[in-house]
Amino acid sequence: MSPEGQQEPVAERGNAGMFVPRFAERASKSATETLAFKFGGSSLLGADRMLHAASLVRAAAAAANVVAVVSAMSGVTNRLIEAAKKAQEGNTGEAAAVVDALRKQHEAALTTLIHHENERARIRRCLEEVLAEGRRLCEGTALLRELTPRTLDAISSLGERLSAPLVAAAIRELGLPSEAIEATELIVTDAFHGGAEPQMQLTRAKSQARLRPLLEKGIAPVVTGFIGATAAGQLTTLGRGGSDYSATILGAAMDADEVIIWTDVDGVLTADPRLVAEARTIPVISYREAAELAYFGAKVLHPKTLNPVVQAAIPVWIRNSFAPERPGTKITPEGRSIGGGVKALTAIRDVTLISVGGPGIVGLPDVLGRTFSTTAEVRANVLLISQSSSQNDICFIVATVDAQRTVEALRKEFAQDLAHHKVEHITVDSNVAIVAVVGENMRGTPGIAGKTFNALGRENVNLIAIAQGSSECNISFVIEEQAVKTALITTHREFGLDASPS
Ligand code: ADP
Ligand code: ASP
Ligand code: MG
Repeated sequence: MSPEGQQEPVAERGNAGMFVPRFAERASKSATETLAFKFGGSSLLGADRMLHAASLVRAAAAAANVVAVVSAMSGVTNRLIEAAKKAQEGNTGEAAAVVDALRKQHEAALTTLIHHENERARIRRCLEEVLAEGRRLCEGTALLRELTPRTLDAISSLGERLSAPLVAAAIRELGLPSEAIEATELIVTDAFHGGAEPQMQLTRAKSQARLRPLLEKGIAPVVTGFIGATAAGQLTTLGRGGSDYSATILGAAMDADEVIIWTDVDGVLTADPRLVAEARTIPVISYREAAELAYFGAKVLHPKTLNPVVQAAIPVWIRNSFAPERPGTKITPEGRSIGGGVKALTAIRDVTLISVGGPGIVGLPDVLGRTFSTTAEVRANVLLISQSSSQNDICFIVATVDAQRTVEALRKEFAQDLAHHKVEHITVDSNVAIVAVVGENMRGTPGIAGKTFNALGRENVNLIAIAQGSSECNISFVIEEQAVKTALITTHREFGLDASPS
């Protein structure tokens, strides 16, 4: 039976010979309904997967306007970043070898996907231009032995700029007009390279002006995920995994009726299936719960994914591109009660515990204020804060990538106090992880913290710090990194998350 509030897509065989959903429920709706689709890297790995993604777009486009957002092929962004780092070390040979391997990988997909020689040559020229830009960027970096955030963005954006023309071509192969579009034309951001924020009004104006005429002509736009540009036209990226965010930014900008994120799992699961084999798919989840899971490391969603759709209450689906006949998870403003309280667990591993302390800080004015205005200045995202009641230790967690610059800035801020022993230490521990227990209904369900900690105690998992937000939507705790799997499996069982949904 279909879970409450969900419409089960009906499966049929598409042109590519694979099961694709018919979106039958839409047939009666207005043809002007707009859907934003996003395909992640594993859903695009190779010609077969691209063709399959294209068939999902084509099937949906029979009854709706579809804007597709695409990631780079799986692994490509990592390799581009590696190439950039090699170039920075002056190793032009290795950087060039990466670009060459990417050329071969995309050429192989092109050869399988496109049958007409002229069309193939046209797309090859597009890809070659992007690759040539990559080579020049690596050469420039090697020459200067300097990799600025701006150049790193330009290099890491190349994967999406290579995949979008291929996916658009695959859609055209299936008989639906399609055009690849660079998001630099649509998404206007601030200039914070590596984690830019969209400016929604400008983005909306540009996206409507560029995409609406295409949709009206029945052309499916395929937009590069992950990237945007400042108002002055400087390319930026939205942060790793940012294509999910691109999809909701564009979904909101285009007044989409739904955003559908196609990935390699059945939806949002009760825990990361790579760590907890018994994890099961959650049929319906609220924005808050999903955002909390994403924020605390559930890779299936970029942490900011839900921000753009909150105001317009646009539903977001997470669905399996490898099994499109399955319903997936629907993320809605209110979610759905499951009674038990805890809905899912998640963990973040690449985090660092920073602590500022010593008995002297008790009398020191504004330590908290100074600590957190310093983290704000270096734009470090503070994931969890805990302060001991005697006030002689403030500890907080940041992503490990932010840790070094945070600690340097703190040492500068507290230099005088360290010299006079008012602050005794600023210490760093990167051998930790955060585990979060998430569920909107935990509010008013007593005993969840006790149950969690009892279970962890039984397994000898040592708790380093604990935090519970006043929203009571999340209890998070810091443990040693090596204990993450045990902590997740134990807590997952303790709350019966492996059982079927009620
Ligand atoms: P994509 O390439 O489609 O963006 P990602 O690799 O970024 O896919 O995200 C999907 C992965 O997220 C899954 O393969 C899964 O291992 C991981 N993941 C972590 N936590 C969860 C969760 N709670 N539910 C589903 N997937 C999760
Ligand atoms: N390709 C980018 C990354 O690997 C963005 C994404 O996949 O969402 O981070
Ligand atoms: Mg992702």
